[in-house]
Amino acid sequence: GDQLGEALLRHKKMSKKAVREEVLSMLSLVGIPDPKERLKQYPHQFSGGMRQRIVIAMALICEPDILIADEPTTALDVTIQAQILELFKEIQRKTNVSVILITHDLGVVAQVADRVAVMYAGKIAEIGTRKDIFYQPQHPYTKGLLNSVPRLDLDGAELIPIDGTPPDLFSPPPGCPFAARCPNRMIVCDRVYPGQTIRSDTHTVNCWLQDQRAEHAVLSGGAKD
Ligand code: SF4
Repeated sequence: GDQLGEALLRHKKMSKKAVREEVLSMLSLVGIPDPKERLKQYPHQFSGGMRQRIVIAMALICEPDILIADEPTTALDVTIQAQILELFKEIQRKTNVSVILITHDLGVVAQVADRVAVMYAGKIAEIGTRKDIFYQPQHPYTKGLLNSVPRLDLDGAELIPIDGTPPDLFSPPPGCPFAARCPNRMIVCDRVYPGQTIRSDTHTVNCWLQDQRAEHAVLSGGAKD
């Protein structure tokens, strides 16, 4: 209760009674049963899933326009994970908050995202709707990610890992950060960072393969010119 109310007291200058009411209603919103009892309890008296719900309540209590959730389901088992993802959807419906979800889990992305930005080495490689990214991936990194996760609809399909490791960001490469691991790498990729190509109203890609000249590129010194 104290932790949840602190932000309201500090930022909204509400009375203690109003804070208590707001905290109770927020606990109900995130699905905590018996909120009046729970107000007096300590974190160790809650399960992992409940603690996650309370952290979400803390983030929401001052009514932000955007909620940034960084790996919110990583430490949770799949049942609780599904509940938390459902909670995000419900909160979005009820409060109209925009949620930016940061995750390594493509299953989570497929379940909840409207719009997806695939990032590599701190840069956006490709942006699209969920459909663009899962059915029409263009960037070799996005394709690599999709090829390396199991799919229930492809029986016995081989998983293909992405070889190599990410670049050292203390000394980032001048060109495409994915170049050292990319099966389609051309010489230009090592030298110049690829600009953004707009494929549709919803879909953009940062990759030299999208350049019209790429189809005429020839192999030269182990990489395409
Ligand atoms: S810009 Fe070049 S190295 Fe980077 S992903 Fe595209 S083809 Fe591969």
